Amino acid sequence: MSFSQFELHPDLLKAVQHMGYKEPTPIQQQAIPIAMSGRDLIGCAQTGTGKTAAFALPILHKLHPTRRAQIRALILTPTRELAAQIYEVLQGLTAYTKIYTAAIYGGVGMPPQERALRLGTDVIVATPGRLLDLIKRGIGRFDGLEVLVLDEADRMLDMGFLPDVKRIISHLPSQRQTMLFSATMPAEILQLSGQILQNPATVQIGRQSKPAEGITQSAYPVAQHLKTDLLLTLLEAEAMESVLVFARTKIRTERLARHLKESGHKAALIHGDRTQGQRLAALEGFRERSYRILVATDIAARGLDIDGISHVINYDVPMTPEDYVHRIGRTARAKAIGEALTLVAPGEEEFLSAIQRLTKIEIPRQTVPEFDYHRALKPRPQHDGRRHKRFNGRAKRRNAYAAY
Ligand code: AMP
Repeated sequence: MSFSQFELHPDLLKAVQHMGYKEPTPIQQQAIPIAMSGRDLIGCAQTGTGKTAAFALPILHKLHPTRRAQIRALILTPTRELAAQIYEVLQGLTAYTKIYTAAIYGGVGMPPQERALRLGTDVIVATPGRLLDLIKRGIGRFDGLEVLVLDEADRMLDMGFLPDVKRIISHLPSQRQTMLFSATMPAEILQLSGQILQNPATVQIGRQSKPAEGITQSAYPVAQHLKTDLLLTLLEAEAMESVLVFARTKIRTERLARHLKESGHKAALIHGDRTQGQRLAALEGFRERSYRILVATDIAARGLDIDGISHVINYDVPMTPEDYVHRIGRTARAKAIGEALTLVAPGEEEFLSAIQRLTKIEIPRQTVPEFDYHRALKPRPQHDGRRHKRFNGRAKRRNAYAAY
């Protein structure tokens, strides 16, 4: 199948060709004709499936070539990185049109974003918090809005954005086309779909929560206090050209990045408390291979689209199987191959079992022959007994990760 079968405007086909897309991905094949017909859509798709172009092309086809100096399409997405990434795809796809696009997210100055809203930029891609701030100040008119996209709806839910999303939707015309994309379909998202979509078609690509093909997975059982040393040993492999390492918390991300740098590695880091400038600089440096390693938390790395990540390493086992699938989906993008390694401390075995159950894949266990797995345990920090009792559940989880 080729893109020309969609009867997209020739200016868009030219851009698709220019971007090097030869044939539509499965979600594009299914979603583009439905979206072009004007129907509401629910897309359940894994990461790296090409879903951005799946919703962007029908939107641009609808908008091009008439300009109205109105906001006509709004794409809401959970993180600044995703907003920047979608904006970039839109820039590519609109290269031969006069459609204006703008990205609106926190952490950067407001005036250019205010201007974009005031001038009636055709397509706005935004994170919910910043857009709502601007709307509350009376900036931006949405009465000409024709299409709304909710991207990564499940992650917007996880990040607590649903109330903001609902408030934004209350400012939009009810007559519009709505597309909702989500890798998983928790009850709250299904409920939201019932409220904001009309007679939607559903497109599901692959089995839900299945890692992309082309990713070789392995688990490395290791004592919690030896994780950093084992990681350093694993990083000695030359095949590890470009490595994304996930840690569970901002503090662990900071500490690990510091250790890696002290050990002579070129490493950058991103997490939610870094400034926008720091995050962009880390991503750019990693993309351009100035850094071999990027250490990240889940939220900061959600949906990152970086070509050529050879290895994803889970320094901590993610607590939900969905996060595991998202994390390892950062490698083997767009049909390439990659490897995903997961360091598993004894207290994390239960999370690994949950991942194996959901993905229906038995992740092979590996050991590094030259690594000394029996080095002495360092003493654990003392916990206050009362806290243990009161926060038993949380303490149990925390202990699973207690470092060093
Ligand atoms: P997405 O799931 O939208 O983040 O896209 C994942 C990656 O696939 C991005 O790098 C896109 O540029 C790329 N991509 C999207 N559609 C196609 C296509 N039809 N052919 C080749 N690559 C594509």
